[in-house]
Amino acid sequence: PFDVLVVGGGPAGASAAIYAARKGIRTGIVAERFGGQILDTAAIENFISVKHTEGPKLAASLEEHVKEYNVDVMNLQRAKRLEKKDFIEIELENGAVLKSKTVILSTGARWRNVGVPGEAEFKNKGVAYCPHCDGPLFEGKHVAVIGGGNSGIEAAIDLAGIVKHVTVLEFMPELKADSVLQDRLYSLPNVTVLKNVQTKEITGTDKVNGITYVDRDTGAEHHIELAGVFVQIGLVPNTEWLGETIDRTRMGEIVVDKRGATTIPGIFAAGDCTDSAYKQIIISMGSGATAALGAFDYLIRN
Ligand code: FAD
Repeated sequence: PFDVLVVGGGPAGASAAIYAARKGIRTGIVAERFGGQILDTAAIENFISVKHTEGPKLAASLEEHVKEYNVDVMNLQRAKRLEKKDFIEIELENGAVLKSKTVILSTGARWRNVGVPGEAEFKNKGVAYCPHCDGPLFEGKHVAVIGGGNSGIEAAIDLAGIVKHVTVLEFMPELKADSVLQDRLYSLPNVTVLKNVQTKEITGTDKVNGITYVDRDTGAEHHIELAGVFVQIGLVPNTEWLGETIDRTRMGEIVVDKRGATTIPGIFAAGDCTDSAYKQIIISMGSGATAALGAFDYLIRN
């Protein structure tokens, strides 16, 4: 069995694996996609001491750093079940069962779906989640951003510099984004903000050609012609596979203490899959280190 088995290969998991391996204990890391969300990120300018980098480049450095140590890296493997017996068992989609004395869960998060007709059908055919990745595909075209929170307004500001026109659709009567972002947004000439509207359908034939929404004040239905829809309504933690085994918040985030420990002894968690206050690369790396040291502490006491 492993001493520490890390599930998830994003910034949190990579950090946890390195901290664990540096203790000279048997460490493994299982990742569905090594690198995690940063693979979908363009410029990163808030990873302290690195003025500018790009997501895939940072992901490659994470992997290179992990491989400096004696870590068993199992990439392209998805965990589907966790059970605590004599050891903690992690069952993979491929049927293999990994055993470990401690586990660090660092499965991250993913963008929330809006769940209207057309969204799934036109994914990558006009429906997008990552403005940094897909924005340039819509150069000179009309797009919509669903969601008026920070991520939605950041996306709208970003896209306005690339595309012809951006329509922001917010379900609530007010935008939730920080006022500095709203000020910036309203200063742009090619942005329309629709508040108190509900997206009804993303329309298209072979690709997106428009969006239908309902004005919640009047109940009137409207249709706008456009080429792309960016869905920006928040992040969902990748924790469904844990079922009822571990305490999670109403949002599905794993509850951890200041050592990264969950409610089950020997099981720790780090990064965007936890109830940490903010979801950032530097924060997830810090919490990965915390969880690994927490796991090591647990091992020397048990
Ligand atoms: P993730 O990066 O989500 O990694 C999760 C890992 O777990 C992945 O390897 C995944 O494949 C794996 N996994 C999931 N489920 C399973 C399973 N069942 N079995 C096995 N493996 C599994 N942060 C910044 O600080 N600066 C930025 O500029 C920035 N820009 C961003 C731009 C975009 C487009 C996005 C999406 C995010 C951005 N972030 C940024 C946020 C940052 O990427 C995250 O906070 C960070 O990646 C979280 O790291 P993590 O390791 O907790 O999770």
